[in-house]
Amino acid sequence: MSILIKNASEILTMNDGLGLLKDRSIFIDHGVIAEIGAGLTAPSRAQVIDARKCVVMPGMVDCHTHLVFAGSREDEFALRIGGVKYEEIARQGGGIANTVAKTRTASEDELYKLARERIDNLVRSGTTTVEIKSGYGLSRAEELKILRVIRRLKDNAPIEVVSTFLVHAVPVHMKRRDYVDMVLEEILPAVAHQKIAEFCDVFCDKGAFPNGDTEKILDRARSFNMKLKIHADELSNTGGADLAARMGCVSADHLIFTTKSGVRKMRDAGVMPVLLPGTTLYLRSKRRPKIQDYYDERTAFAIASDYNPGTCLIYSLPRIMALACLMYGVEIESALLAVTINAARALDRGHRLGFIRKGMPADLVVLNVNNYKKIVYQFGEDLVQWVIKKGKIIYGKNR
Ligand SMILES: [Zn+2]
Repeated sequence: MSILIKNASEILTMNDGLGLLKDRSIFIDHGVIAEIGAGLTAPSRAQVIDARKCVVMPGMVDCHTHLVFAGSREDEFALRIGGVKYEEIARQGGGIANTVAKTRTASEDELYKLARERIDNLVRSGTTTVEIKSGYGLSRAEELKILRVIRRLKDNAPIEVVSTFLVHAVPVHMKRRDYVDMVLEEILPAVAHQKIAEFCDVFCDKGAFPNGDTEKILDRARSFNMKLKIHADELSNTGGADLAARMGCVSADHLIFTTKSGVRKMRDAGVMPVLLPGTTLYLRSKRRPKIQDYYDERTAFAIASDYNPGTCLIYSLPRIMALACLMYGVEIESALLAVTINAARALDRGHRLGFIRKGMPADLVVLNVNNYKKIVYQFGEDLVQWVIKKGKIIYGKNR
């Protein structure tokens, strides 16, 4: 199948910054970007997409989600709006424990069906690659169950799926030390043996896993050749960004309390910082990451949805970009880079995803706006017109 995306107002190639091209067309053949130029004509067999008054950008990469789970938590959401703190809800058996209980009783087929529907929503909003974490099982059998669901999504979904084993919380009625031992002795070896997760991630924070435990777990994961990620400095500054730099993590995520020196250390160590503004909105948290530190230190960052049942139900990266701009003060250009090339780097895929270049696989989104600033400016509208993954149209609507 070949496709001609004709006369786009703007193409954001993400080569050297936004890499903005005006009034050009893209010809896709055999899944690959065969040509980019002005006045391209289509062979008769090609499907033509009229992209006049449209922006074309790389398929978006959601590099942090928890989208395999059962149940929903709108009651806790309502309590939080009424002023009850997340920590208080967690103490009463809500929070992650609530989702763990529901996910454990769900069958693999049920979890697959729920997650597959969520992926359809991602596709409609322009996401063509998604990372999914386990972490609602909290035992060897239950974590493997979730990871098998992620593997099934990887085999069947129309977009690329990246699998992460997450050490998320201590199971109810268990001591932290005992769960850490279980992770080190039983769960991680099984996950590694089955080659069922590319990354290992730990929720490192006050009230979650301290730096010492995090380091032990990540060390073990690395000994199994897994790549590393970390949930860092979300609820307090525990030096999570420094730890990520020291451990050589591919990414460090959340970073609400990270200091400028933490930002610098991540940059020097090649760790991709990942910001998750949807969570800040849902938690109604007043604290914001200091974006100026990233600009001062010339440090690239990614942005992701953190889609999860407790603290962010937003799957649309255009909307998440808008939150990053409006709530964190991220510049529109940086937000666009953050959900494409930088997000691909946060998944160790920066060499092949998140940019538009001749000869590369065609992962593209066509949006119904005539310039890129409107993607954020008009974030309440569904602007995505066409989504193409590896040269195949996986979503489309004619104007
Ligand atoms: Zn998360």
